[in-house]
Amino acid sequence: MKSFAFAQADTPETAVAEGVAAGRFIAGGTNLIDLMKLQVETPAKLVDISRLDLSDIEESEDGGLLIGALVPNSDLAADPRVRERYPVLSRALLAGASGQLRNKATTGGNLLQRTRCYYFYDVDARCNKRVPGSGCDGREGFNRILAVLGTSEACIATHPSDMAVAMRALDAVVVTLGHDGDRRRIPLSDFYRLPGDTPHLETVLRPGELITHVALPAPPAGRSTYRKVRDRASYAFALVSVAATVAIEDGRISAAQLAFGGLGSQPWRDPAVEAALVGHAPGDAAFNAAADALLAEAKGFGHNDFKIPLARRTLIAVLRELTETEA
Ligand SMILES: Cc1cc2nc3c(=O)[nH]c(=O)nc-3n(C[C@H](O)[C@H](O)[C@H](O)COP(=O)(O)OP(=O)(O)OC[C@H]3O[C@@H](n4cnc5c(N)ncnc54)[C@H](O)[C@@H]3O)c2cc1C
Repeated sequence: MKSFAFAQADTPETAVAEGVAAGRFIAGGTNLIDLMKLQVETPAKLVDISRLDLSDIEESEDGGLLIGALVPNSDLAADPRVRERYPVLSRALLAGASGQLRNKATTGGNLLQRTRCYYFYDVDARCNKRVPGSGCDGREGFNRILAVLGTSEACIATHPSDMAVAMRALDAVVVTLGHDGDRRRIPLSDFYRLPGDTPHLETVLRPGELITHVALPAPPAGRSTYRKVRDRASYAFALVSVAATVAIEDGRISAAQLAFGGLGSQPWRDPAVEAALVGHAPGDAAFNAAADALLAEAKGFGHNDFKIPLARRTLIAVLRELTETEA
């Protein structure tokens, strides 16, 4: 590991002031420390934010929740309000990592965890995300875990988070504090960037900008679930995952919010999928139309071709599960 400067922040404002000058925040450290040990990331300075007062989950006036950026993944999953009102989020969190990791991993850090692409982690490989302009060994390499949606010539990495997929389905908003006291509310739909020619720029966060909270709007109507398909039953990242909330009125789907993990360069949500469902009677015709909409632009790179039919089957299975007893 390369040497680095270290600062302990006592308030969000001092964290931002310390972080602006080439600093990186460290929260749970479960991703950043690994990357530093491998010299995938070599920040000149770490700003420890773990003692900031950002560990509460509060009710918000719109009937939603305001989640502090330092709320551990295990606490968020276990919170009775989350379990009861946002079961899709609780399930997604519990599908991720291990109990020990979830005790350390934070809400803000989870959103910003880096890809698990093998070539990103291998400092001897070419990776445009790690070293801009160096090339991508994933396209021609062992790309089994990599993306089939939202890829570019420069990068086919997937976003690995489970939590962020559920939050994308729930229309979460990232609340930040930036330089000069700027506060921003960034819908998760606008938070992640597509890789394009600059896959090293993953979000719209500015240098030194701190995530202070994540806001969830009032819970959507209907039934919800999170289904994760992976190589092992636990302690494995998603090959395909689906976060879904579906409501039915008078025998037709009246609302649907769906997001996908393991498929895209970011937690993936496509309005065309929901448009293929809303207003239609639940059944294979609508479910297949939703899968067609999701996968219309999907492109495999050889080893990961299997994700395309797997995504179709997983989506249809989830839609059947959520609609069969109400249909
Ligand atoms: C073996 C293993 C298995 C795993 N399996 C899964 C899995 O199945 N599913 C899954 O979703 N995840 C999985 N994870 C990833 C885990 O969820 C993340 O490592 C964790 O959520 C990161 O949170 P953290 O607080 O430790 O982040 P850190 O490592 O502290 O930080 C991660 C990044 O976020 C930035 N950051 C942190 N907090 C803030 C903030 N408030 N504002 C601005 N920037 C911030 C840091 O600068 C850094 O760039 C796994 C991890 C490991 C090691």
